[in-house]
This record gives sequence, structure tokens and C-alpha cells, in this order.
Amino acid sequence: MRIAIVGAGPTGLFTSIALARRGHDVTVVDRDPGPRPDGTWERAGVMQFHHPHAFRLQVVEALTAEMPEVLDTLVAVGAERVILPEPPHIALGLRCRRLTFEWVLRAAAEAEPGVVMLRGHADDVLAERGRAVGLRVDGQRLDADLVLDASGRAGRLGRGLRAPVDSRDCGLAYVSRQYRLRPGADFGPMSMPIAGVAFYPGYGVIAFPHDDGVFSALILRPGTDRSFAGLREVAVFEAAAAAVPLLATWTDPERAVPITGVLPGGRLYNSYCGQLDENGVVPLPGLVFVGDAVCTTNPSAGRGVTTSLLQVRALLALLEQDAADPESSTRAFDAWCTGNIRPWFEDHVVCDDGLAARWAGADVDLDRPLPSDLIGAAAEVDPSLMRVVGPYQAMQTLPGTLAEVEPRAHAIYAGGWRPPVPAGPTRDELAELVARHASASVG
Ligand SMILES: Cc1cc2nc3c(=O)[nH]c(=O)nc-3n(C[C@H](O)[C@H](O)[C@H](O)COP(=O)(O)OP(=O)(O)OC[C@H]3O[C@@H](n4cnc5c(N)ncnc54)[C@H](O)[C@@H]3O)c2cc1C
Repeated sequence: MRIAIVGAGPTGLFTSIALARRGHDVTVVDRDPGPRPDGTWERAGVMQFHHPHAFRLQVVEALTAEMPEVLDTLVAVGAERVILPEPPHIALGLRCRRLTFEWVLRAAAEAEPGVVMLRGHADDVLAERGRAVGLRVDGQRLDADLVLDASGRAGRLGRGLRAPVDSRDCGLAYVSRQYRLRPGADFGPMSMPIAGVAFYPGYGVIAFPHDDGVFSALILRPGTDRSFAGLREVAVFEAAAAAVPLLATWTDPERAVPITGVLPGGRLYNSYCGQLDENGVVPLPGLVFVGDAVCTTNPSAGRGVTTSLLQVRALLALLEQDAADPESSTRAFDAWCTGNIRPWFEDHVVCDDGLAARWAGADVDLDRPLPSDLIGAAAEVDPSLMRVVGPYQAMQTLPGTLAEVEPRAHAIYAGGWRPPVPAGPTRDELAELVARHASASVG
């Protein structure tokens, strides 16, 4: 088949290589010019590109299954496989900048026989006799037997065709900065194998180790609270990082030097948009949406590339079974996503609503089932919960499996226990520090 893919992000690139290796002729269309010869890459239009990314085990598994040499190259250029330090030493994921991940994946796609990378803007999906027959790219026709829309969370192509997107504000925003370790220095303390995390009522911080001695320091702030807007200034970010113990240790000038400015992030959404229109009909057989164009979730849980590549793997299997009937394979893919991807969207909506309420001062709501993050936290009191919580946290089981241990977690909270708050400034103290340093840097 001739397959046109819109979007050369992780979804489009991975899909293009996998499809070419199945004998298809693939053209990937993206407006982005790619990395510059000096290795820098702005990636306008993908606002998260330089923000911290953690890559879960499912991403490693997808690469291993479809393109193991890409994983080898990532490791060769400094990405690090994360393995549980204690027996049974299970693999957990990959430490890597998004820049490095995408740069290696893009180079592999460019070198793949059967993949053509076309720079341009996909203006429209072309339809004839009620089915997709290609794209209009910068006014030129590109014929295809199948069109995949991997245009990401900001993509607009063909959006009016589907039922309206179900979208909820995550209630938080990113402010991050990348640092490089000084020679001989190690990453700072990590409360989880993949990151150092400290959450306070009203904000949170995460330190993400990446490849080649680079790490990101992230401050998660309430999305609509203007008190933290000053964090985008270097002096203010540095003062805030120095005041929060976890980030103070990681960003200590003796340990590391900043290699980027402060990167502010836009509003974040949990969103889900299936393949069908409002009447439950495949709107344009031969056009399939995949990756962030289907689902986005609160990025601080690091699920986006995983949910994207899980979708691709399901789609590849369906296309192998039933490529001749685009309507039935699209319908089957939609059903698979409803069962396996939408639950992550729904889980995040509940967790984020609960977190926003608690960040605004509310106590744990014991009048309704606990959100997954609170069930997970309760394992600190009763480690036996990990039998169910662990596979959920690793995304090996769906959020619904937590129902089995919810009553036990509920009882723990009803007994008065609350997740401990680490040492560090309160939300009001941090907001006051931001205001003080912001006005100092203006004055
Ligand atoms: C702040 C933040 C942090 C994140 N952290 C993590 C993390 O730690 N771990 C994780 O797994 N996920 C994370 N994610 C999610 C992850 O970034 C996404 O899941 C991932 O980018 C999805 O890849 P994609 O290829 O579907 O879309 P994208 O990466 O958005 O790529 C879409 C591509 O389509 C192109 N495009 C769009 N429209 C057109 C058009 N009309 N014509 C031509 N080209 C077009 C764009 O230029 C872009 O290159 C994070 C997200 C955010 C917002």
C-alpha cells in the first residue's frame, strides 16, 4: 500500500519504519525542518519538545519488537536503560531527552528504505467516493491508499470529521530547565527509579535524569494561578529551585550547570477523541488518527509516548489482519482504543480533579471512590496493596483493576492517614518567594 502519515513526531516516525518493514511505501509529511547541522532543534509547534520526558518500559518494548537497532543507537549516544536495582532487576524504561529520542528515531526513518520524508504542511485530506485517497500538501496532491493522522495534540487536520474531542484541563503547568552534570558528579536523590519527585499541597517538583549526564528540573504549578508566573525568569526559577530541597540538591552549582534557559509550558489537557463521528460512523474510511491525535494525558505521569506506541502496535496488528477493508479495521482500532487507551484518559481526569481540589485546600474526599494516585500512595501504609498497585503504575494493567484494593485504601484514609509532605516551602511561601525575586529582577 501507499501510506501517507501526517506528523514526524514519535508516533509518525515509529509507524513509518514499522510499516515500511512490512512492505508498504510510506511518505511522512511534517512542516518541521528537522534538526540543524549543529544539532540544535527548535521544534516549533511541539511545545513539550524540550520539556522533560521519561520513557516507560512499553516504549523500550515497542522499539525492541520493531526496530531494536534504534534502541541500540539510543544507548550508544548516551540514553540509559532503567533497571530495578534490586532482584528481580526488571527493566523499567529509558532515561533520555525527547530531543535525543526523536533525533535518533528520525535518522532511522530517513535511512529506512521505503520511507520518504516530505517537508510540508498537510492542508487537507483528499476524499473521493466517500473514502480518503491522499493529502493536499502545500497545495500539491499526494496520493495514498491509507492516510494516518499522527499530527499530535496541536494537529487540526480532519478534526471536524470526528465527534468532538473530550478535553479537560489538567489544572497544572510545567516550568522546567535542563542541566548537565559536572564531570564526575552523579544524579541527585531519586524517590522513584525514573525520577526524584516531591509533591506539596499547591505545587510539585520533579527531577528527571536523561541521557549523557543531562537532567531536567521541573516545577509543576497550578495552571491558572498567576502567583507562579514569575518562575519563567531565570533568577526566579533559580531562587525557587534553591529553596525546594530536592531541586536544591540536584541543581547545586557544584553538581551541575544549566544548559538551557527556563522553559515555560502551556496549559495541559487530558483529551480523548476516537475515530468515529457523532453518529458512530467511520467518517472517512482510509483515514485513521493515532497517537496524541487520539489521546493526551497529564504529562507528569509520563504516559504519552507509551499510549501512542501502544496504539501503533495495535493498529499494525489490525492492518495486517484486515488492510483490505479500511472501515472495519478503523472500527476495530476505535474499539481497541476505547478499551485500552480511553481508561487512562478517564483515570487522569479523576486524579487531576482530585489533585486540583487538594491543591486548593480541600481534604481527601471520602464520599466517593478514591482516585488512583491516592490508592497508590496508601501502599506506603500497607505494602500488600502493591500486588495490584505495582502493575497499574507500570501500565501493565488498566486503572479499573485498582477497584479491588480501593476499599482497603479508603479505610486507611478514613483512619486519618494522609500522604506525608516532604520538607520544603509551603505553596504560600513559594509564591511569596516568586513575588519577591520577580520584583527584584524587574527592579
Ligand atoms: C509538557 C509535556 C511533557 C511530556 N512528558 C512526557 C513524558 O515524560 N513521557 C511520555 O511518554 N510522554 C510525555 N508527553 C507526551 C508526549 O510528548 C506525546 O505523547 C508525544 O509527543 C506524542 O507524539 P505524536 O507523534 O503523537 O505527536 P507530536 O509529537 O505532537 O508530533 C506531531 C507532529 O505533527 C506535525 N504536524 C501537525 N500538524 C501538521 C500538518 N497539518 N502538516 C504537517 N505536519 C503537521 C507537527 O509538526 C509534529 O511534528 C509530554 C507531553 C507534554 C505536553
